[in-house]
Amino acid sequence: MAKRDYYEVLGVQKNAADSEIKKSYRKLAMKFHPDKNKDDKAAEEKFKEASEAYEVLIDADKRRKYDQFGHAGLEGAFGGHGFTWDTFTHANDFSDIFGSGGLGSIFENLFGGGFGGFGRSSQPSNRGEDLQIALSLSLEDIAKGIDKKIKISVKDACDKCNGSGSADGKVQTCNQCHGSGQVRQLTRSLFGQMQTIVTCPSCNGEGKIIKNRCPKCGGDGRISKTKMISINIPAGVSEGQYIRLRGQGNIGKRNGTKGDILVLIHEKEHSIFERQDADLICEFPISFSQAALGSEILCPTLSGKVKIKIPAGTQSGKVFRLRSQGLPHVNSVYHGDLYVKVLVITPTRLNSTEKELFKELGKFDSEKKLQPGKGFFSKFKEFFV
Ligand SMILES: [Zn+2]
Ligand SMILES: [Zn+2]
Repeated sequence: MAKRDYYEVLGVQKNAADSEIKKSYRKLAMKFHPDKNKDDKAAEEKFKEASEAYEVLIDADKRRKYDQFGHAGLEGAFGGHGFTWDTFTHANDFSDIFGSGGLGSIFENLFGGGFGGFGRSSQPSNRGEDLQIALSLSLEDIAKGIDKKIKISVKDACDKCNGSGSADGKVQTCNQCHGSGQVRQLTRSLFGQMQTIVTCPSCNGEGKIIKNRCPKCGGDGRISKTKMISINIPAGVSEGQYIRLRGQGNIGKRNGTKGDILVLIHEKEHSIFERQDADLICEFPISFSQAALGSEILCPTLSGKVKIKIPAGTQSGKVFRLRSQGLPHVNSVYHGDLYVKVLVITPTRLNSTEKELFKELGKFDSEKKLQPGKGFFSKFKEFFV
């Protein structure tokens, strides 16, 4: 199912203030709360959908990415695996709805831990963070595809403790949770008191405690290193697309698994061409005499100049299509086209000789029967809207 627009989900305007977003979310969360809608799968989904929309729109950075790139801009926002309940960070702001233990485990209590993947996800993930970098490319780079090398700071295993985080290699089982990583807690919510299971505060859900922390990494098991990464950009990519480099992001704490690097493509504005999918569009100015008498012009393309024959009597706004001179489609042998719109330029600042010549020409105007009308540009509109 296609994702709905986040603003539409919360029923707010694009320029809604945080307070409106919060108010609207609160209303929806109350309406679709599982306690009020027992065994109602549709309500659960609505609750989750609203929470995802809130998570994005209340966060200035996520909201900006969403406004700019839509859902594609958030591909890396939730650890690269889409929104789940454990990426919802605002439960504590709505303790009357979610209970004082934050999101706690209202869903575990109600659905026996099987709700939307939430049950298991309260286990700490030992996966490292994804990293995001933006890459600016010219249309020329995009036309050919390009290999880039970039220096980036990545968290890698600490070489002093081999990533264990322990100075002496000794690890103890946590006293508070006895190694399970979870503790039970009584919380009060709008819907009454309930027992929830929360992440153990002593060990942060790991079930283990390091007695002597490694002095180099402070027990984290990882340190920052500068790494050179190679990125292979295929031809034809476009603004807002991501390239995912699997397993090249931060390593998880204490020898966890590695996250990814997400490379966000940014397309530099071109001085001549405008892009529309794989097609390119440009305007080419020609003179009255070139238009009236016909001529040849040398039009730039991304791969050098190409001759275009301008027939005698060409009108301003006429579009010439150069087949396959656009951008390649990703992973395809097909190219888009280049549309060249010629514009007949009315000369300004005429010298006296030119003035005389135009006056001579003007003597024939009455014979040309110029008629007003509409629709001159409408034929070409589709290319330029
Ligand atoms: Zn260390
Ligand atoms: Zn513990």
